[in-house]
Amino acid sequence: MADKITIDGQSKLQVPDLVTIPFIIGDGIGPDIWHASVLVFDAAVAKCYAGARKITWKEVLAGEKAFNETGNWLPEETLSVFKEYLVGIKGPLTTPIGGGIRSLNVALRKELDLYVCQRPTKWYEGVPSPVKHPEKVDMVVFRENTEDIYAGIEFAAGTAEAKRIQDFLKEDLSVDYNFNNTTGVGVKLVSEEGSKRLIRAAIEHALAEKRKSVTIVHKGNIMKFTEGAFKNWGYQVAETEFGDRVYTWNQWENTKASKGQDAANDEQKAAEQAGKLIIKDIIADNFLQQILLAPQDYDVVATLNLNGDYISDALAAMVGGIGIAPGANINFKTGHAIFEATHGTAPRFANTDTMNPCSVILSGVMMLDYMGWHEAAQAIVNAVAETIQQKTVTVDFYNLMTDATLLKTSEFADKIIEKL
Ligand code: NAD
Repeated sequence: MADKITIDGQSKLQVPDLVTIPFIIGDGIGPDIWHASVLVFDAAVAKCYAGARKITWKEVLAGEKAFNETGNWLPEETLSVFKEYLVGIKGPLTTPIGGGIRSLNVALRKELDLYVCQRPTKWYEGVPSPVKHPEKVDMVVFRENTEDIYAGIEFAAGTAEAKRIQDFLKEDLSVDYNFNNTTGVGVKLVSEEGSKRLIRAAIEHALAEKRKSVTIVHKGNIMKFTEGAFKNWGYQVAETEFGDRVYTWNQWENTKASKGQDAANDEQKAAEQAGKLIIKDIIADNFLQQILLAPQDYDVVATLNLNGDYISDALAAMVGGIGIAPGANINFKTGHAIFEATHGTAPRFANTDTMNPCSVILSGVMMLDYMGWHEAAQAIVNAVAETIQQKTVTVDFYNLMTDATLLKTSEFADKIIEKL
């Protein structure tokens, strides 16, 4: 009998060998890419564990399918299953237009307090890329997932709420700004706890994976008490909680101020030679420039919600686009995690069996790694890489390659399975 994943007092997942995983099939192209992906997951687990481990898939409803069957875009039952089973996976969901829910994805992240959005960006040989050296890109973005301007606390121009906030800013806080009733208002909230838990997760990941650096990406030169504070809290977490295992640019600045730049450089060099994790920071606009000029300088990235949104798409484009970009939303304390394709439902291509299933397949790889089933995860990665190298691909890659063979979504999955 399949069992549930649980978590112990030390926030360590307990994964039974026969495990039940809930999934949302997704809207639009969701069913096509899910059906292809699940065959790959099952084949990899069967191949690697010869029946000793197995996933039983439990469908839960969300999106159009849920709305058509229950009249509710995100049924309570779905949330309670994800809460109970801890780890799940989903296809893309239509964003309901008008009324109620702003976005189903945001609602799921909020309900389960999935504060880390983790997106690895790595190039697979043969994947068409718009940059000359995509092999230099190997980053993992940790995007804060619950706060920032992205939380959607905003009021439309001309409403009583917008006017009230503007009056308060003008009259109570003496804010000098040319307020008027054609101005919408958004609120940017960034907390110490929210920032620290995200950056802590990024550092823990970097240490566990023996990465070289964590870069805090922010716009703190302008937004000092939100983005600037995020950076400062990041350095605090690094120095107080990971002291002897990291070296920060904040320490470098302090040494430079007290002993001069040469001493600071020597100190950093010694830290690097001792295998310490370097914690550095960069302004967001410069970062978007540097990932094109010197992507090899960046490794694990910790950033705020909105920056993370832009950065992960820019990085995804460098290594083959959204058809191959996986993602995970995780709460490392409670263990709750939902793995998902980062693209949308591409409704024009629904039921065509043509789209690339890689983003769901590689999200599943992240899920298997999260569960500790590393052998199955690695087997899938190897088989995907080989399939792409042989130029047997779906239409998105086919259009950008020469001498490639065009496969349907389902045929592409079959090719991967052959190579497991
Ligand atoms: P989209 O990501 O669905 O599609 C944009 C284009 O990207 C498509 O036309 C297609 O050319 C390409 N594409 C997407 N997935 C692909 C794949 N697997 N293989 C190959 N090419 C692929 O973006 P959109 O059209 O702006 O959004 C459609 C719907 O999806 C909206 O309702 C939107 O709100 C929703 N959405 C959902 C999620 C999510 O569930 N995580 C994310 C983004 C958008």
